[in-house]
Amino acid sequence: MDVTVAGSAEAGFAEIARQRPDVILVDYHLPGRNGAEFCREIKANVNTRAIPVMMLTSEDSDSAQMRGLESGADDYVSKSSDTDILASRILALLRESGAAPPVVLQGLEKQYSEARILAIDDSPTYLSYIAQELRNENYTVDTLDDPLRALELVKEGRYDCVLVDFQMPGIDGPKFCREVRAAASPSASTSIILIMLSGHEDKGHIQRGFEAGADDYVPKSADTSVLRARIAAPLRRKYLLDQNRRILDELREREVKLIRAQAEREAAEYRAMMADQLAAANLELENANRQLDRANHELEEFAYSIGHDLQEPLRMIGVYSQLLQRKYADQLDAQAQQFIGFCVEGARRMDQFIKDLLTYAQATRDDGAVPQEWVDFNQIAANAIDNLAGPRRETGAVVDAGFLPTLYVDGTRFQQVVQNLVANAIKYRKPGVPPHISISSKREDDGWLISVRDNGLGVEPEHRETIFALFKRVQREGSTGTGLGLAICRGIVTRRGGKIWVESEPGQGSVFHFFVPDQDTGPGGAKLEPGEQSA
Ligand code: ADP
Repeated sequence: MDVTVAGSAEAGFAEIARQRPDVILVDYHLPGRNGAEFCREIKANVNTRAIPVMMLTSEDSDSAQMRGLESGADDYVSKSSDTDILASRILALLRESGAAPPVVLQGLEKQYSEARILAIDDSPTYLSYIAQELRNENYTVDTLDDPLRALELVKEGRYDCVLVDFQMPGIDGPKFCREVRAAASPSASTSIILIMLSGHEDKGHIQRGFEAGADDYVPKSADTSVLRARIAAPLRRKYLLDQNRRILDELREREVKLIRAQAEREAAEYRAMMADQLAAANLELENANRQLDRANHELEEFAYSIGHDLQEPLRMIGVYSQLLQRKYADQLDAQAQQFIGFCVEGARRMDQFIKDLLTYAQATRDDGAVPQEWVDFNQIAANAIDNLAGPRRETGAVVDAGFLPTLYVDGTRFQQVVQNLVANAIKYRKPGVPPHISISSKREDDGWLISVRDNGLGVEPEHRETIFALFKRVQREGSTGTGLGLAICRGIVTRRGGKIWVESEPGQGSVFHFFVPDQDTGPGGAKLEPGEQSA
């Protein structure tokens, strides 16, 4: 054992702060300050309160002993005691001592005076006397005269403190203590307090008691106030240690929470950083999209103006070629006439091409407000069928239309959509089979679906997407075209917020569908109904 000696209370505090001893022995009489005050200060400080304190005194009176223990000392020993006894007591104190780091107190949850005590003695008179004395102190006290039954209960962990007689029938006090200590689980927070009561006051008995694991040894002859003080001191200490452990657990738990909170904060910061990066990337994308839109727009404007400007010289070529053909027919040989024929046909095709291109440009051009109105699709279908009277007659096509809705659209453009689809249905018919075309409609959740069904050639799966692109055709025997008809349809439908697609069974026919969504442009975003105008 390492022993450090201090000559005064102040020197003692300095030493304690410097090296935090495992146990403190303090004289009741100190220069300037008495041992009880010193002890109270040690116990009031959260950093030192867990260190066991043993009070030494030359005064052997019961009152001095009680004053010492009441000040918070864990044990009280007379200076006249045998040094072996002193050593046994110190060891008993150390046995209970656990690591007690500096912690912040949060108030005792449970008072040591609420402790459960079991008194075992074969004398019923002594038992009831002791029990009454302790109950007066607020303890919960059970008594038993059968030590073996008591041992079972104690092993179950029902008690905080056991008063055990040195001599009992069946099992003696030291054996009882040894069994209790042997049965204690090493993980138990604090061990049970065993106080041996005995009629024997000699050194041999006292030492046997401590060796067996007793925390204290009290002669039966002692005043009950001494017994009470000797029970209170270790109980107070036990509760203090329990409390320290609880605080430690709480601190550990708090530390875990702190670590978790920190991890969550870091994750949140990371998410925020990612969100910032995403926002920056989105902004870049938006800028790129805007630039692309502008470039597209310029290109469309350019195509439109070129197309427009080409019309006049093309008209000249066409008109003068036809003049040559008519006026000089008899002066030209057959080959010259054939060449002029190529010129006329070329000019006609180019004229059609430019017209389609201009229509496409117009359909997809974002020229501000598109004139929209409530348009009856039954009327649109009738107009389209009328306009295609020539091809219908030539091919014997039958076109029928079911009920069609009235929709808020640009009527001229949507008439073009229906007309292009019906014209294609006639154009891409199966050889030798008169075209049968039907136009129908279906109400969907958020708009109308219009469908044009035919019994023509059909479209192979690999072409179902591409045929809607600019200049994309699927070469069919005998058919001519610019590859712009469906691109125009798609331009018109998508500008109105809808979409267009084809379903087909090659060799059986096709169904071209286009969807027109309800337009939420009424006051307060309400759906527009026929007869209403958009704001
Ligand atoms: P064009 O008719 O000038 O070739 P479109 O854009 O109108 O151009 O059509 C693109 C292609 O889609 C056509 O070349 C044709 O092969 C195919 N197609 C369009 N409508 C039909 C249809 N109803 N049945 C079969 N194929 C069709």
